[in-house]
Amino acid sequence: MTALLTRRSLALGTAALLAAPSVARAQASLRLVIIGGGFGGASAARFARDTYPDVQVTLIEPRTRFVTCPYGNLVIAGKRQLPEISFGYDAVRARGVTVLHDRAAGIDAAARSVRLAGGQSLAYDRLILSPGIALRWGGIEGYDEAASELLPHAWVPGDGGQTALLRRQLEAMEDGGVVGLAIPANPFRCPPGPYERISMIASYLKRAKPRSKILALDAKEGFSKQPLFQDAWAALYPGMIEWVPGNRDGRVVKVDPRERVLETEFGTKHKVAVANVIPPQSAASIAIEAGLANAGGWVEVDPVTFEAKAAQGIHVIGDANTAPPMPKSGFIANSTSRQAVASAIALARGGQPPGNPTYFNTCYSHCGDEYGISVVNLFRPGGQGFVETPNSGGISPRGDHPEQRRLEAVYADAWYKAITDYMFGA
Ligand SMILES: Cc1cc2nc3c(=O)[nH]c(=O)nc-3n(C[C@H](O)[C@H](O)[C@H](O)COP(=O)(O)OP(=O)(O)OC[C@H]3O[C@@H](n4cnc5c(N)ncnc54)[C@H](O)[C@@H]3O)c2cc1C
Repeated sequence: MTALLTRRSLALGTAALLAAPSVARAQASLRLVIIGGGFGGASAARFARDTYPDVQVTLIEPRTRFVTCPYGNLVIAGKRQLPEISFGYDAVRARGVTVLHDRAAGIDAAARSVRLAGGQSLAYDRLILSPGIALRWGGIEGYDEAASELLPHAWVPGDGGQTALLRRQLEAMEDGGVVGLAIPANPFRCPPGPYERISMIASYLKRAKPRSKILALDAKEGFSKQPLFQDAWAALYPGMIEWVPGNRDGRVVKVDPRERVLETEFGTKHKVAVANVIPPQSAASIAIEAGLANAGGWVEVDPVTFEAKAAQGIHVIGDANTAPPMPKSGFIANSTSRQAVASAIALARGGQPPGNPTYFNTCYSHCGDEYGISVVNLFRPGGQGFVETPNSGGISPRGDHPEQRRLEAVYADAWYKAITDYMFGA
């Protein structure tokens, strides 16, 4: 327990480590513009405002309320309600951040300006870009935005509509139905997320529709925290979950939304009662349209400054960048935001970025009532990219540890409260 608490407090306290006094000294009105008010962007705004009082911080985010993906799976299970995972920007504004509820429609890296959909243009000295992901419509044949209204993805926060839709479909399903999931190949947002979702759907079905089954069709051969998840499924939901890996024809390549059919690579057609299709992904469109992404659709960045390799002055954090072996997680978006902001401001002032950064990730997953598991990793710049710090981190032990599982569910709640307070709290 102590180790986990220490890691958490360390992770949320890196601000102090990164705020080099020479960098924090006043210089007139440097303009830091942040695109995206989610995990990366809201964290960056908080850190910039707290650490550099003389810098003008502007946050561009179209939505007036941000619905988190973390804990969305608990909403799907009926263990939380959407308002409990939705946050407004009043406290961000009260800290002195200028929040513009508009969409960035274009970036001119040479002129250092952002064009907003509302028509305004904003000049910046440094830009932090954290726009998250785009779903690759058509990455699975037949799966487009219209199809997602029948076969929800519930994989981007949006207004919570997709999460609510999946919940409603599960509630409407008859006992004995099959819930199908299509899970993409790497890389994608939140590697353990689909398996937490399977667990949360199973916990609902066990309670409300115990004759039902889950068919998880996966493009991969293995997944994050796999032995721990599979232990939990065997203990809590025996016989309910079938997971089909890619090498056993698990890769979904086509869907028929009206018939609710998921078709795999070798032509097997699975008709299901409810389908949750998580399609392949890329960086959000603003990053791609600005010419920042590589052929795979993700933005390559410098591992110390997070400056895009394709454009100076634009620091890209969160899921939009490619930073293996770091996962695309809210915690990584939060943790790296401090280094990106400190680097951006140091470079804008002609200084050096803070050296030797460490990036933290703790990823909790809920497997059932009072049943949590976690993995912790520490990363740092190394080689041409990022490396895991040797002999760091850890994973929940396997075996029969009910008290540990109960405590990890409590720590997960504490993690969620700490990170959302940091982003959106007073
Ligand atoms: C089911 C699920 C469970 C998860 N659970 C966890 C978890 O337990 N722990 C964890 O650490 N992570 C978790 N994640 C992952 C986490 O949600 C993401 O890694 C995180 O949201 C990434 O932060 P981001 O800033 O890159 O993107 P986001 O948080 O998605 O924020 C991007 C923001 O940018 C805005 N935006 C996009 N384009 C523009 C534009 N052109 N102009 C202005 N704004 C724009 C969007 O409106 C959005 O608000 C989970 C994900 C899922 C799907």
